[in-house]
Amino acid sequence: AEEPFDLGRGPLLRATLAKLGPDEHRLLLVGHHLVLDGWSYGVLLEELGILYDAAAQGQEPELEAGDSYVAYALERATQERGAEYKSALEYWTKQYADGVPVLELPVDRPRPPLRTYAAERHDYTLPAALCDSLRALAKQQHTSLLQLLFTSFQVTLARITNQWDLVLGVSAAGQASSGRTGLVGHAVSYLPVHGKLDPAAPFASALAQTKGQLVDAIENQHVSFGSLLSELSVPRDPSRMPLAPVSFNVDQGYTQRGFTGLRVESWNVPRAYDVFEIFANLVDTKREIVIETQFNRDLFESATIRDWLSSYEAVLAGVVANPQQAPRDLPVLTDAVRQRVLHDWNATETAFERDTPIHGFFEQQASRNPERAALTFEGKSLSYGELDKRANQVANLLIARGVGPEQIVGVCVRRSSDMIVAQLGVLKAGAAYLPLDPTYPAERISYMLEDSGARFVVSRSDSIGALGTLDAKVTPVLLDKEPLADDTRPNVKLTPANVAYTIYTSGSTGKPKGVLVEHGNFANFLAGMDARLSLSTPGVWLNATSIGFDISLLEIFGSLARGFTIVIHSDDSGPEFALPALLAQKVTHFQCTPSQATLLLSDAKGRDALAGVKELLLGGEAMPVDLAKQLITVLKNGRLINMYGPTETTIWSTTHAVTQPEGSVPIGKPIANTRIYILDERGLPTPRGAIGELLIGGAGVTRGYHQRPELTESRFVKDPFADGRMYKTGDLARLRADGAVEFLGRNDHQVKLRGYRIELGEIEVALRTHPAVHEAAVIAREDRPGDKRLVAYLVAQGEPTVGELRTFLTQAGLPEYMLPQAFVPLAKLPTTPNGKLDRRALPAPAQDSSLGVGEYVAPEGELEQGVAEAWCAVLGITRVGTQDNFFDLGGHSLLVVKLAEAITQRTGKPVAVPDLFRFPTVKSLANYLHVGAATNTGSAQRGNERAAAAARRTSGRRG
Ligand code: AMP
Ligand code: MG
Repeated sequence: AEEPFDLGRGPLLRATLAKLGPDEHRLLLVGHHLVLDGWSYGVLLEELGILYDAAAQGQEPELEAGDSYVAYALERATQERGAEYKSALEYWTKQYADGVPVLELPVDRPRPPLRTYAAERHDYTLPAALCDSLRALAKQQHTSLLQLLFTSFQVTLARITNQWDLVLGVSAAGQASSGRTGLVGHAVSYLPVHGKLDPAAPFASALAQTKGQLVDAIENQHVSFGSLLSELSVPRDPSRMPLAPVSFNVDQGYTQRGFTGLRVESWNVPRAYDVFEIFANLVDTKREIVIETQFNRDLFESATIRDWLSSYEAVLAGVVANPQQAPRDLPVLTDAVRQRVLHDWNATETAFERDTPIHGFFEQQASRNPERAALTFEGKSLSYGELDKRANQVANLLIARGVGPEQIVGVCVRRSSDMIVAQLGVLKAGAAYLPLDPTYPAERISYMLEDSGARFVVSRSDSIGALGTLDAKVTPVLLDKEPLADDTRPNVKLTPANVAYTIYTSGSTGKPKGVLVEHGNFANFLAGMDARLSLSTPGVWLNATSIGFDISLLEIFGSLARGFTIVIHSDDSGPEFALPALLAQKVTHFQCTPSQATLLLSDAKGRDALAGVKELLLGGEAMPVDLAKQLITVLKNGRLINMYGPTETTIWSTTHAVTQPEGSVPIGKPIANTRIYILDERGLPTPRGAIGELLIGGAGVTRGYHQRPELTESRFVKDPFADGRMYKTGDLARLRADGAVEFLGRNDHQVKLRGYRIELGEIEVALRTHPAVHEAAVIAREDRPGDKRLVAYLVAQGEPTVGELRTFLTQAGLPEYMLPQAFVPLAKLPTTPNGKLDRRALPAPAQDSSLGVGEYVAPEGELEQGVAEAWCAVLGITRVGTQDNFFDLGGHSLLVVKLAEAITQRTGKPVAVPDLFRFPTVKSLANYLHVGAATNTGSAQRGNERAAAAARRTSGRRG
């Protein structure tokens, strides 16, 4: 090749010719958009052909005089003063009378706060056969290929974004509409076509609708995009192109004119910068169609664009196959992509010890290393051998009483080694254990016993009180009272399908429901954890989670299965106070919620403690990216792992080792023999990156809900993509470009509050049973950053006090974490136009409009004032009375730690967390600090039964 020949360089147009071979040349034309639009290139090339032929034959070229841009511009300017322009403007404003929808494409990278323009191009070819079918279909439907391609593109975008009301920009050539076909210049109009698709109506009717729309848009093209923007006063978001960030264009392609004796092809060179988020330029070669797709590379990866274009191809093929299909039912995945997201991605097949029951894994360890410490509690340890024998004794006793497989036995033992002895005893008897957290209200416990049909409760004299009056059908087995003798291992035959434990989770229609988990589910879970955690070299695992939550099984039975030592956190304080234990006992593995981790980080001792942990597992609720960043720096050599999973699919179903958190922390990939699907409302797999519901299939899927056949059938459905069933989690998620799943919230009214799973419906149902309450709505809201809380809205007769309501709800069986922190009286609940409760219109509780707590008594003296100030600071309120109860005003277990610090800061007196549970009013605490400070060490002594009980009631221990 020779040096390219510079044909001319103006400020707005450049032309260069390169000779690549004796008879191969390449001409590069670079024009500024100000002087050249798509149409103009066609004009230029045509004229070049004529000039070439004339020059080749040594003749004068016969070129017609070009159309004048000046004349065109003047005409446009005149138009802008005319009636036609006014009606065009009216047309456009009418299109947006109900507001301007914002297209939320699922981006691969966090959207930069300031819009960027760096672009890349991906070319995708629609095969000729498909294009032929499309041309035929357009004819048959009495529409144009453009309309068919355009409508299908709208449908593809709708399926990617789940937005059916959307704007798609098209370009119209001013040359065509003004009759100046030979005009070179910028005459293109960008028309934001506003389409409202009906997802359920046949595609053919959407097509008919678009036809009118496109014709109207082109007819009203003389309003420029800029004028329209200012006319509509579209709110500007500096991170986005306004109104129509996606542009769609069909280019007729190049048809050779002139250039006699040459073969000419033309290409559009990819642009390195572009204004659009996506610009699909469809070039019709008359055989296949090439989609030249420019995209913003700060938002998207090329692979995402490629997949979306393949979704477009799938939609087009679906339309060809049956134009009567509804847009929501059209296929959006090609076979190759389908195979990848449904199967390759879920190829998690792993061998596991299916036939070993939960206690069987422990027994293997006990036989191998009977001397090894299985657990320590308050300084005392129990070896694997001893624990085995104790549990055998309990099992033999239960068996003698007739307990066996498929029976449910309650376990109500405060945190201690006996708690684990009791669980193991039930399992070894072949039965399933039902954890009954003694901190729960007696009403909830008796409901669970009744609902589960348990005939026995294993307990202890110091815990049995939590059960209240036991139903006559239930027999308590007190570990400290029963004669325990035979310590040989019982030999109960179990299958992987036998139920191992049942855990109750909040129920949306008012009552909790028990999830039945089988031994085989756990065996598989263990294999999953073996692959994701380092469990092969035994370590020390802190058990701080209540056995009422399934993740305690990893801390307890996962540990015992792998020869770990469990450090059992004492019952007299919540996990937030676990640090000394962590520090002293060389804990290597620790699992908690992001809320608890945040609290740990807020304290120097907590940060030190975390530094020694080898594997820190966070789960149960979304992990904020800032928290992840901080934890990674604190962890030194340890690993941070995000754990995700509903109780219904056995403890954890996906994991993600966090290394360089950015944007958001994903929940990762499915564990062994687990399948994850992201499906839309129709149960179809979503296009790449699109939001859908997360469904979980595979070996972790549990039996379902105890004696709730309808509920079980509605949530546990047949897996259409593989054998077995899958569970509909109600979680919203999407697959990220890096192949990890990202959690994006819920599709219902279940919330997570400090890791606790709460159905707001359960609280609402309970509130409505209060005689003075007519209507009730409960939402979780975060009016102050980091302080998510439950707020109840009531239409009530009279003014029940907060204290009354909270007591009432406790008596109705709600645990402390389900008690609303604020109650707002309303004359009526806000409704949407169609009469449904409008949750988004529920007001933020004003500090003083919430229900009163009782009579206001102003704090007196330095101490009371100091305490009251600390309360206000922690609760974010302006005043408190000395008789007000911290928990009634919205205090919760995590705030208690902050409160202790705040009081010490203001009064100079050391305050321990349990003190705050003992003295929950300003007055009582000030008195205590005044009188007790000299004689008291400041910490709640275990002897104080009432205080300990109060502390247990109010301190959240959640995994
Ligand atoms: P549970 O049955 O208590 O384990 O609650 C399961 C629910 O907690 C899931 O369906 C999610 O909504 C939520 N969840 C659990 N783990 C995570 C996590 N790592 N990130 C976000 N949400 C989570
Ligand atoms: Mg879970």
